[in-house]
Amino acid sequence: MKVMQDKVVSLHYTLRGDDGNTIDSSVGSEPLAYVHGNGSLLPALEKELEGRGAGDKLEVRLAAKEGYGERDETLVQVLPRKTLATIGKLKVGTQFHAQVPGGARVMTITAVEKDSVTVDGNHPLAGLNLNFEVEVVEVRDATAEELAHGHVHGAGGHHH
Ligand code: ZN
Repeated sequence: MKVMQDKVVSLHYTLRGDDGNTIDSSVGSEPLAYVHGNGSLLPALEKELEGRGAGDKLEVRLAAKEGYGERDETLVQVLPRKTLATIGKLKVGTQFHAQVPGGARVMTITAVEKDSVTVDGNHPLAGLNLNFEVEVVEVRDATAEELAHGHVHGAGGHHH
């Protein structure tokens, strides 16, 4: 069975930056499972997986703009500490959701000063070229329930 629209794909992946350091990997744990063609993965990565089958290994290099986008320095803001009073403990790396025009955005605290906090609305992987090593583990039909929910049930997916 080949990877195509609405198939459930299980895969192992390792993601590295251009410096060769591993950013994320499924190796050593359960494979990642997703319903193909529903925007679960980066569109450019799903496109490369199209037509592949179990056992296929591929290397996919995505430029930052095909990944999580280029960094937008206008999304970095220095705020008075008191405006973030509801978040609790303010420390570098803390993430929270902020309402912005067009929806919610994940903000990451990148610096904490005595009176101010620097927050960055860029995706943590924005600006990075992404180097994926992918191995397709299994391709199967999705159940009607999985298609209705848009995500995978059982191994590697949501449990409920
Ligand atoms: Zn579900």
